[in-house]
Amino acid sequence: MEHKRILIMGATGSIGRQTLDVIENYPDQLQVVGLAANSNWELLAQQARQFAVSTVALADEQAARLLADAAPQLQVYSGDEGLQEIVRELEPDLLVAAISGLAGLPPIMTALEQRCEMALANKEPLVAAGQLVTTAASRAGVRLLPIDSEISAVFQCLRGEQTEDVEKILLTASGGPFADYTKAQLAEVTAKQALDHPTWQMGPKVTIDSATLMNKGFEIFEMKWMFGLEFEQIEVVIHHQSIVHSLVQLCDGNVLAQLGRPDMRLPIQYALLYPDRMPNQFDRLDLADIGSLTFAAPDPDKFPCLRLAREAGRSGQSYPTVLNAADEVAVAWFLQEKIDFMDIPRLIEQALEEHEPFSVNNLSDVTTADQWTRDYLGQIAADRR
Ligand code: NDP
Ligand code: MG
Repeated sequence: MEHKRILIMGATGSIGRQTLDVIENYPDQLQVVGLAANSNWELLAQQARQFAVSTVALADEQAARLLADAAPQLQVYSGDEGLQEIVRELEPDLLVAAISGLAGLPPIMTALEQRCEMALANKEPLVAAGQLVTTAASRAGVRLLPIDSEISAVFQCLRGEQTEDVEKILLTASGGPFADYTKAQLAEVTAKQALDHPTWQMGPKVTIDSATLMNKGFEIFEMKWMFGLEFEQIEVVIHHQSIVHSLVQLCDGNVLAQLGRPDMRLPIQYALLYPDRMPNQFDRLDLADIGSLTFAAPDPDKFPCLRLAREAGRSGQSYPTVLNAADEVAVAWFLQEKIDFMDIPRLIEQALEEHEPFSVNNLSDVTTADQWTRDYLGQIAADRR
C-alpha cells in the first residue's frame, strides 16, 4: 500500500501534536511530508527531525529566519504566503488543517484548488467563509473529513445513511467549566480559570470559546456546512461527561449516536485513515465506571454567544464573518486581561448590531468584513481609554 503523504498546518498546536501521535502508530500507511506553524520554530524543528521532514513553513518571518539558521538542511517557507507555497510545493495527499483562527483559510483554499483531500479541525474558516470553503470543495470533488469530535460523530453516524433522511442533529456540549455558574459568578471569571477546561486539553482560543459556548455556536456552522443542513435542524444539548459526541435523529424517529472517551486522537485517527478503521492501543470507554450520562438544555441567558451565533448564521451575508472576527478579537483581549468574560458576548453583539451586511462571494469579501470588525472594535477600545 502507498503511504498517504500528509502536510500538517498548525503542527505545533494541540491538534497538530496529537495528529503526529496518531501518525506515529501507522508508519506503513501514513507519512508526514510537511509541517507548518506560526512562530514556535524550536518545536517545529524537533518535529521535523523526529518525522524526517525536510520541508516546513512558519507564518512568522523572524521565527522562520531563526529556524533556517538553526537547521540549514530544512527548506523553510515563511510568511502568510509561505503557508500557501508549501501546499503548492508538496502537493500532499492530505492536508490536516489545524491552525487556530481565520489565518487557516488561505492554505485551505489553496489545497482545495489542488484537489487535496482535507482533514479539517480549523473551524473558523467554516464560520467566516462556510459557503466559499464548501463550494470550493465540491467543485474540486474533495471530501472534507472532520476532526472536530462532534462533527466526526455525525460523520460516522451518517456512514451508510442518506443526508436527506436527517431530521435533526443533537449537538452535544460539555457546557465548559462554568456550566453551573450564576450570571454574577460569570462576570468575575478570570482568563486563568477559563483556561482550565474540565474534559479537553486544547489551545487557548478554543478553550475560551468552549467556556462562552461560542465554540458550540461555531459547531452549528460546521454541522450546517459539512452536511448541508439548515440552522434550525441543529439543536444543542448540554452533556457534561463528553462521552456522547453528538447524535443524529432520522426522519423515522430513530436516533444514532457516537460514543467514545474524550480523546481527540480518536476522531483524528478516523479522519487520517478514512475510510479504513484500524486497531489502536488507546484506553477504552468504560461505561460502568462512568455510571451515568446526563443531558440538559443550555441556558441562553447565561451563554448569549450561542444565540449570537445562531442569529448571525440565520441572517447570513457578512454577519458570520463579523461574528468570527469579533470573537477572535474579544477572546484575545480577554486573554490579555483587557476585558471581562461577559464583555466577550457584549462586544460581539455590538459589532453585529453596527455592521452593514453585504454578500460574501470571494476571499476579498471575507477580508473586508473581517477588517471592518477589527477596525470597529479597535475604535471602541480607543474610545474607552
Ligand atoms: P492551538 O492554539 O493549540 O494551536 C494552533 C496552531 O496553529 C499552532 O501550531 C500555531 O502555531 C498555529 N497558528 C496559529 N496562528 C497561525 C498563523 N497565523 N499562521 C500559521 N500558523 C498559526 O490550537 P488547537 O490545536 O487547540 O486548535 C486548532 C484548531 O482546531 C482551532 O480552529 C480549534 O477550534 C480546532 N479544534 C481544536 C480542538 C482541540 O481539542 N484542541 C478540538 C476541535 C477543534 P504556533 O505554535 O507557532 O503559534
Ligand atoms: Mg468540538
